[in-house]
Amino acid sequence: MTIPASTSPPVVRPALDSIPAYKAGKPAAVGAQTSYKLSSNENPYPPLPSVVEQVAAAAAGLNRYPDMSVASLHAALADKVGVEVAQIATGAGSVAVLYHLLQALCTEGDEVVYAWRSFEAYPIAVGLTGAHSLQVPLTAGARHDLSAMVDAITEATKAVVVCSPNNPTGPAVHRDELVELVESVPQHVVVVIDEAYREFVTDPDSVDGLELARGRDNVVVLRTFSKAYGLAGLRVGYAVAPITLAEAIRKCALPFGVSQLAQAAALASLAAEAELFERVEALVIERERVVAALQDQGWDVPSAQGNFVWMPLGAEALSFAEACDAAGVSVRPFQGDGVRVSIGEPAANDIFLEVARRFGSA
Ligand SMILES: *Cc1c(COP(=O)(O)O)cnc(C)c1O
Repeated sequence: MTIPASTSPPVVRPALDSIPAYKAGKPAAVGAQTSYKLSSNENPYPPLPSVVEQVAAAAAGLNRYPDMSVASLHAALADKVGVEVAQIATGAGSVAVLYHLLQALCTEGDEVVYAWRSFEAYPIAVGLTGAHSLQVPLTAGARHDLSAMVDAITEATKAVVVCSPNNPTGPAVHRDELVELVESVPQHVVVVIDEAYREFVTDPDSVDGLELARGRDNVVVLRTFSKAYGLAGLRVGYAVAPITLAEAIRKCALPFGVSQLAQAAALASLAAEAELFERVEALVIERERVVAALQDQGWDVPSAQGNFVWMPLGAEALSFAEACDAAGVSVRPFQGDGVRVSIGEPAANDIFLEVARRFGSA
């Protein structure tokens, strides 16, 4: 076969043209004044000594590939959540697991429904498959509009992604409304419940994705070690899924994508849950302190169920973020919409509250 001579440059898939670049949270400023990073929803606590010890031990084997089957961690997770091992799939963060799942489900011409504004990784994950994002606006209280999401489903819809609590606005989805959504969607449509912040939720009406997923063959729950477990730097997250979907996710995964350090850290963290969840409790108390202080200042903030609060600043989002920067805390602005502020060390939260007070809620 002869290939005609060509002088044109390589061409990437047109689907990539519409994909926004992921914008990482701004690092804390380096300078004379102490500064804090409240822009990436990270856990402000350093890793536990017991976790660091296991990571250091695993480092001695870095000349070897990791356990590709992630056997010990999958077994520990299956045990923790009470499912079969075959229902677990892991990846380099739950964002990677979502990429793999969507890659398994979608191609050009398909649709994925999710709320907007929500997690900024969704348009990228969907766009990379060639599928179309159908974004359903949040309600006035910055909550998912689940009935509008059901109405948005078409014959092309392959998945509905529900983010609970919603990043960046904070409210958790309620059990009754999500049951209704799951029971209204066609059975072949996969409902993905992204519960990256589940451990921080205190709203008694909120859904527990794992409970809802039990016995259903089109519900996938995503969870991560990055937030409550404080392992953002090691990249490990997981799906609890029906067996066929868990298998599909594992097929799409990058080989050896979860490092042995990450596997060791995740296992050690599961063993240290009691200690880690005390920190989560302290962060929740700190979150409630911050929310109450904002309300005292006159701010109308939506229900905050993650480790962050949402300031609905509209056109003033960028100038508020600049004021925070100048005071020594970096936050995450979304131009024209609002600012997401992670709950960090009390000293950092106090700086943010002082900026909010000076900025004024009027
Ligand atoms: C942080 C986050 C994740 C998980 O991120 P990984 O670090 O990739 O595990 C997933 N979903 C949402 C909504 C998040 O905010």
